[in-house]
Amino acid sequence: MYSSVKKKINLAVSLVDFSRKHSMDLRLLLGVANGETWFTRWGYCLGRRCFNMSTSAYATALESLASLHVDHLRSRHVRRVVTIYRRLSSKPLITVREFLRCLLDWKHHEAPLSPPPVKPCSRLPFLLPRPCTMKRSPPCKRFEDVIDLLHCRWSKKRMLNAAEVVVEKLLEHGNDAEMTRQAVRDAARVEIGDTGLLDFVIKSLGDTVVGNHIVRRLPSTVTRVLTFSLEEWGEPVQMDVEVQNTRPAAPWPSTVDVERDLRAVYRAMVEALSGAAQAVLDCKHWVKCWGLGDESDDQLRFLVEWRPQPWEAAELTRPLPSGEIVVVPVHTSIGELIIEAERALRDTYCFFEEFQAETLDGITGEKWDPVVLGGAESGDTIGVHGHGADMETGLRCEGGLDMWEVRCVCGARDDDGERMVACDACDVWHHTRCVGLVDSDAVPPLFLCILCGGALLAAGPMLEEALTLAK
Ligand SMILES: [Zn+2]
Ligand SMILES: [Zn+2]
Repeated sequence: MYSSVKKKINLAVSLVDFSRKHSMDLRLLLGVANGETWFTRWGYCLGRRCFNMSTSAYATALESLASLHVDHLRSRHVRRVVTIYRRLSSKPLITVREFLRCLLDWKHHEAPLSPPPVKPCSRLPFLLPRPCTMKRSPPCKRFEDVIDLLHCRWSKKRMLNAAEVVVEKLLEHGNDAEMTRQAVRDAARVEIGDTGLLDFVIKSLGDTVVGNHIVRRLPSTVTRVLTFSLEEWGEPVQMDVEVQNTRPAAPWPSTVDVERDLRAVYRAMVEALSGAAQAVLDCKHWVKCWGLGDESDDQLRFLVEWRPQPWEAAELTRPLPSGEIVVVPVHTSIGELIIEAERALRDTYCFFEEFQAETLDGITGEKWDPVVLGGAESGDTIGVHGHGADMETGLRCEGGLDMWEVRCVCGARDDDGERMVACDACDVWHHTRCVGLVDSDAVPPLFLCILCGGALLAAGPMLEEALTLAK
């Protein structure tokens, strides 16, 4: 008698995704932008796990990157261009995902002959050409306009740059918090070497608009000391209808602009959450499963898989070999299928050279009964029981000789194709990256894992001896 445990045959196609464009890894870029990579869109799922990455850890990493707030990215370039796209897009573009999607969409757009209607707002201080006839009643002047009146020895670009650093430091301090002049100066000093420039900019910044913020310089209500703080700058500008009609076209980002902006967001995102970005990049093996249905009426297709006996299973430390496909005529008997299954396993694996198949899972009946009456359908996976699998051979794993042991801190227990180093004392393999070796660095002549290194350190003088011997 045969039990009726069975599952459908799956054929799998696997691949490694290393695709890059303009120095961006597409699995990271598209994963964050779309929530799926090019391959997941086509039905691929995460295949071989590198660095013991789980599907849920991958999803968490993707989402944490996607939900990053673009205004919190530490890139002045990003903060500057986001205002352009916010103006051109109908979407709010708050998160990295929204912004990347917008940029990717933009890449495929040609600039229209007539630019889209532009929202009347002056949130593009440095980049938009400003019509001189524009009438506006903002509460503050923009800093670059103030510079024009200041006649100083520094270039406008350097002044603006310094102002942006100051705003960045205020932002880091918190939107509503106040900073004393000295605190602002100390924070900005890290990035601005020219103290003369810095002092001049700080002095001139009060009540001006920089980027999306108004810099306020007011005496603290408690100490009466002058402090700096930020206000959001979101006032729409009052414009005359006549002015709108004669207004020059807003700059339309070219493909080159969009690619540069895309790279800037990508880099700022990786910098902001490097661990999550690395986790996504570690997921590069993808696999797609295809059901093997009936393709012809007069043949049956089965995937036969070895079912080890309990004592055999206890000795197996690695995944079992994958099954073999067997194609038989539609009137094949159970006995004939057993012979075919045995032949398929013997022909494929050294491990099964002497294997003798005895029974099948998933099909009920006597040996002369037709397979189709035993409850099997074409496309099923059938387990094969038998004896004679060569438990002594080293050639029973896909990875080759079963001689090495992987036990890495990341949890990996098998060769995942990543660069590894073996401990010279215990012979256990570890990822080079997980033991702190950069990929560009050569593996040292002597490597000791934490356990063995710790033991040697405890042994004191023996360590020196071992190191001398290694040289
Ligand atoms: Zn590892
Ligand atoms: Zn060791």
